[in-house]
Amino acid sequence: MSATSVTNANGQAITTVGIIGAGTMGNGIAQACATSGVNVVMVDISDAAVAKGIAALSGSLDRLIKKDKITVADKEAALARVKGSTDYADLAVAQLVIEAATENFELKVKILKQLDTLLPADVLIATNTSSISITQLAAVTQRADRFIGMHFFNPVPMMALVEIIRGLQTSDATHAAVAALAVTLGKTPITVKNAPGFVVNRILVPMINEALFVLAEGLATAEDIDAGMKLGCNQPIGPLALADMIGLDVCLAVMNVYLTEYGDSKYRPCPLLKEMVAAGRLGRKTGQGVYTY
Ligand code: NAD
Repeated sequence: MSATSVTNANGQAITTVGIIGAGTMGNGIAQACATSGVNVVMVDISDAAVAKGIAALSGSLDRLIKKDKITVADKEAALARVKGSTDYADLAVAQLVIEAATENFELKVKILKQLDTLLPADVLIATNTSSISITQLAAVTQRADRFIGMHFFNPVPMMALVEIIRGLQTSDATHAAVAALAVTLGKTPITVKNAPGFVVNRILVPMINEALFVLAEGLATAEDIDAGMKLGCNQPIGPLALADMIGLDVCLAVMNVYLTEYGDSKYRPCPLLKEMVAAGRLGRKTGQGVYTY
């Protein structure tokens, strides 16, 4: 499918995607768009943040050249499709804007209100939030029918999945347009109703929590728990090693959200998880989590 065959709610071709945030996810989404022939306007709050995002994208393309996945000419063509900016007005050329700024509710509300005022009514808005309600974010705009969740996975250029999350008021046309764009980007979309954790993290994080219960109960060593899940379930990485990669603080925060939102004790965080977070053992980023790095 070519980029030009994907249209927005108004039947307009999605040829330019605006991205808010040039961080880990923003520059990854920009890369996926640019290497698929879709133009990008990537906006962040400072020139330094924009430059860092473009440099990360460029470095990622260099790694693909080294692996013979793309040519130098492909890289140049992709970079030429990406415009970095600190000015939201530059988003006026986009048919879809994907919000991928820092995970903070107040910040996202502020950004979405700004976008809603600035963008023509037919422009679609998506958010890459991992944990905030799509319906709640949609409601701060005047275009809840043209608002949707587009949850990419990290690292975006490598990960094939995009969860497409429909808020209560998301229209079929918006859903179809965004799902088609995901396919254009070489991704496989799955459609999910709005609920805490969506689908993948709803299953993944409680599984990690359970692995920590198994560890705390002394049923097996961390190494054996991970080996068990790798060899027995074909997981590429064991749940405890994955917890260290995600960050134990993030895992704890997610479990607490499920516990509060679903009100079900099956989501209670493992006491060992709480202890490790309290001790500052957050995983790879602090050099120590379940494992020592
Ligand atoms: P990040 O911290 O790497 O990047 C966030 C960027 O947003 C920063 O560059 C920051 O300067 C920018 N920003 C802050 N305020 C802004 C504003 N007003 N306008 C424009 N830019 C602004 O964060 P990230 O890991 O890329 O996460 C971004 C979003 O993606 C979050 O909602 C997160 O929950 C979600 N997400 C993250 C992952 C992951 O593994 N990192 C996976 C899926 C979804």
